[in-house]
Order: sequence, then C-alpha cells, then structure tokens
Amino acid sequence: MNAADYDCIIVGGGFTGLSAAADLARNGARVLVLEKDAALGGLASSFDVGGHELEKFYHHWFTSDRHVGELATLIGAEDQIVTRATRTGMYYAGATFRLSTPLDLLQFDAIPFLDRVRTGLATLAVRGVKDWRALESMSAKAWLIKWFGQRAYDVLWSPLLVGKFGRYADDVSAVWIWNKLALRGGSRGKGGGEALAYFKGGFARLAREVGAYIERRGGEIRLRTSASAIHATAGGVHVETDAGAITARSVLVTTPLPQAADLLGGAAPTAYTQKLRAIDYLGNVCLILELDRSLGDLYWINVNDPSFPFVGIIEHTNFEPASAYGGRHIVYLSKYLPTDDPLYSMSADDMFAFAAPHIQRMFPQFEPAWVRQRHVWRAPYAQPVVVRRYSKLIPDTETPLPGVYLASMAQVYPEDRGTNYAVREGRKAAGLIRRHIAERRA
Ligand SMILES: Cc1cc2nc3c(=O)[nH]c(=O)nc-3n(C[C@H](O)[C@H](O)[C@H](O)COP(=O)(O)OP(=O)(O)OC[C@H]3O[C@@H](n4cnc5c(N)ncnc54)[C@H](O)[C@@H]3O)c2cc1C
Repeated sequence: MNAADYDCIIVGGGFTGLSAAADLARNGARVLVLEKDAALGGLASSFDVGGHELEKFYHHWFTSDRHVGELATLIGAEDQIVTRATRTGMYYAGATFRLSTPLDLLQFDAIPFLDRVRTGLATLAVRGVKDWRALESMSAKAWLIKWFGQRAYDVLWSPLLVGKFGRYADDVSAVWIWNKLALRGGSRGKGGGEALAYFKGGFARLAREVGAYIERRGGEIRLRTSASAIHATAGGVHVETDAGAITARSVLVTTPLPQAADLLGGAAPTAYTQKLRAIDYLGNVCLILELDRSLGDLYWINVNDPSFPFVGIIEHTNFEPASAYGGRHIVYLSKYLPTDDPLYSMSADDMFAFAAPHIQRMFPQFEPAWVRQRHVWRAPYAQPVVVRRYSKLIPDTETPLPGVYLASMAQVYPEDRGTNYAVREGRKAAGLIRRHIAERRA
C-alpha cells in the first residue's frame, strides 16, 4: 500500500461528517470529505425556490441545542443564529387547537379539565426525570399512560406515536418520548411559549460555511463522489470511490447504518454487519407547497387524526419570514413511512392531488389556486426506530476494522437524531480519530 494520501477520509458531507472534518482540520489533520450529492448538508441540505435556498425537509434548532452553537462559533458565524418565538397547535377531531403555552393546554377541551391539569403537571414533572436507563425496558405507550393517564394518551399521544412510527408505534421506547418532552421543555421562553432557532440563509448555508472552514484549514471536499467499499490493512485504510481508490490512516463513515454495512461488507465480520442492520429506519416524504398567501398563524401543527395522511404541517414562513423566499409562503406536509408505502414514491403532482382535500378539511378557506409551485422530497433513512433497550443495538464509534470509525444518526442516544447531535457525534468520533492518527504518526 502507498503512503496514506490523507489522515482521514470522511464518507458523507452531512453535519456529522462536516463537524468531524472541521475538528480534525482545526487540529492539523489532512482530511478529505467525500459527498455523493452535488452539495453539502445531507438531510439538512436545500433546494432552490425562486432563487432562494430552502431545506428539503423542515429544519430548526431548539434554543438548548448547544453543540450547533459551538460549531457556528468555531467558524465565526455565531451571530448568524436567530431565535424566534413559534406557535404550535394540534389538529384533532376536525379542529385545530393552539398548544403553545400552559394556558392553551388548560383551554384544550378535547380532554376533561382534570386530565388537562394532569397533562400540564406531568409535562413539567417528566423534565425532572434524569435516569433514562430506568426507562429503557418500558414502552413509550406504557410510560405515557402512567404519567398522563389513558384519556390523555388516547387523544394526545397515541395518534402522534402511530402517525410517526406506524406499525412500530407500540415498540417505541419510553426513552424516545421522554427525551422529546424534556427537550421541548428546554426550548421555552419565560411565558412558557416555545422559541426555536435558525441559521440566517438556512442550514445549507451553514453546511457550506463549515465546508469553507475545512478548506481554509487545508482539508479537501469532493462533491458528487461516492464511496463504494472500504478495506482496512495494518498499513492503513483503502476507500474505493467512483473516481478511483484513495488511501488514508483512518476513515469515518457517517452514512445510515445499512449503507455502512454495505461499504464495510467486504472487510468486516458478518456478525458485525448484521448488527449494523439490526436497527430499523423509517423513510420520510415531505410535500412542499409554495403559496401566495399564508394558511394560518401556526408554525407547527401536530396531526392527531389517523384519517389525515400527514403527521405534521409546518408553515415554515411562520418562523422564517416569507420575505426570505420572495414573498412565497412555504408549507411542508410531512409523513414518516416505510419506503414501500405508495405515498413515498408519488410524484409532487399526484401527492398534491391526494393531499388537497385533506388540506381543505384542515383549512376550509384553502384553494388549490394559492399554490404557485409544489415539490416533493423523500429520504429512505429518515428516522431510526428507537425501540426498547435501544442502547444494546447501537454500534460503537470504533468498528472491528482498525482505523475505521462510524458516526451516524442512529447512534444518537438517548436523544433523538438532529443536527445538534450530529455535531456532537462527529466531534466525538474526531477525538478518537485524532488519537489514532497520533499513534500512527508516532
Ligand atoms: C423530515 C426531517 C426533519 C428533520 N428536522 C430536523 C430539525 O428540525 N432539526 C434538526 O436539527 N434536525 C432535523 N432532522 C435531522 C437531521 O437532518 C439529521 O439528524 C442530520 O442532518 C443527520 O446528519 P448526518 O450527517 O448524520 O447524516 P446525513 O445528513 O444523512 O448525511 C450523510 C451524508 O452521507 C452521504 N453519503 C451516503 N452514502 C455515501 C457514499 N457511499 N459516499 C459518499 N457520500 C455518501 C449522503 O449523501 C449524506 O450527505 C430532520 C430530519 C428529517 C428527515
């Protein structure tokens, strides 16, 4: 084998790979990022809406997301993060309820008053739960019924779990929902209302700026370059790509785990690649509408109605103003689903034709003529299914192959996946890789 071309090759230019590369480049390592797409950002990348960049899938941060803040500070862009109050609601039994503040909850008459009070108290109390390991063997369903009661579970929680996880709903771990509640609680303003954060110009702009930082530090980024296999020898690691083979002292794989299993399949023990396939994922499909006017004043509507084909309606321009998109109002209709669900593969036109009557049901004033453009984006590995005892399924950052490391969305735990934790996992892997490189250099 030739002398290593790089200290580390990073497969994937999403936020995990970029964060690892930024850390390594800052510390003097020669890094190469391989990204199969034409742009950086992965699931948080963008597309063009009338000359403006918009995320393919809705994205925001919670105000408690400190790792992305640190990434922005590293590249000198901390002043580009904006925080704004947002309004949340729920669609249930043919009506949309505002559910942003404790007062909204007290007025939510879909459940009896005492259950509303219990829900408010339980929401506060579960934030005090710190020992997630004690929840690992419990289902979200059993845990929610214990804290919130059966009636609140049936109205508030069951439709959300079924809407998001479908046939996996009863298997989802208590840890997953506990974390969601604790996290959202940490992203509230003084009056109890929710505040969320965004990067000026969008997440893709942040990804590009991290990429520019990596290049300023001597790192390299190759777009439209796909890794196809990884082999490790005592002398280093070989990455085969569609543009030839590259050698390095180490490799960090940041793809979804089943894709990592494919990349490592020729070199790693079968028992290991089987473990990489043990976590199930759901896909996601987002129908995005560019409207000439607003649908309503809520940013986020949870759909607690099993007959509605989407689980979330996100009017992005009730968060980032429509002026950022040439006056267009942007609405995402989101659905998590297995990739063999027919909805997953529908064209934007077919999906809109399918969705329009449902949108009209929720917003009776809505007319299809308001829609200027429609788009659809789909991702096959959008959400790992966090089942009970999930910690036992998670592979380590270090793989059995010397110099080969793994950091991906499915390894984020007990928190749920998100760019904030992608940054954390990327930096954690970079710390291990730095040690490996130092040993190899010594
Ligand atoms: C619908 C939806 C909404 C979300 N909303 C939010 C939100 O509001 N806030 C938030 O923080 N997070 C959100 N997330 C999650 C967030 O997008 C992810 O957690 C994060 O982007 C994951 O980053 P990653 O780098 O680990 O993975 P990815 O973004 O998946 O990056 C992996 C990269 O590897 C590349 N790749 C794959 N195979 C190869 C190969 N063989 N060779 C080269 N490159 C390869 C891919 O093209 C991709 O760019 C959302 C996700 C979805 C699906």
